[in-house]
Amino acid sequence: MPSYVNPDKCDGCKALDRTACQYICPNDLMVLNKSTMKAYNQDVSMCWECYSCVKICPTQAIEIRGYADFVPMGAAVTPLRSTDSIMWTVKFRNGTLKRFKFPIRSTAEGTAVPSGGFEGDSDLDSPVLYTEPASLGTKEIFTFNGNA
Ligand code: SF4
Ligand code: SF4
Repeated sequence: MPSYVNPDKCDGCKALDRTACQYICPNDLMVLNKSTMKAYNQDVSMCWECYSCVKICPTQAIEIRGYADFVPMGAAVTPLRSTDSIMWTVKFRNGTLKRFKFPIRSTAEGTAVPSGGFEGDSDLDSPVLYTEPASLGTKEIFTFNGNA
């Protein structure tokens, strides 16, 4: 299910020029109703449920269904960010609430090394990933076609 703004919790980001959800949505789906100062998802069919707006909203106003691979179908999930973790509140269809806390990345913005520091083989025709075999802790990789 796409993101849904709970108008009771949305404060319009306190009338900033651009709300947090508008800033973060890669599809430019979030808009602010200037008369009510409540945001909403203007085209739910285009929402790919990336969770960006859900996580950035400072008032936890945006709800979204959790993917079935981490909570049962139909459960709504709401994150609460802190400096080093995210607390996810999961509301199950029967009303049960559970909370899970996960650490977040501590790498400073713009300092992530895409390859993780591994020197790789940039041969695009190779069947192995760029960082392999070193990132797997092996010296070589065997494929269906033999030794890569
Ligand atoms: S980020 Fe949250 S509080 Fe801010 S406008 Fe969007 S839904 Fe409302
Ligand atoms: S879940 Fe992602 S795509 Fe959907 S409205 Fe939020 S930021 Fe945009």
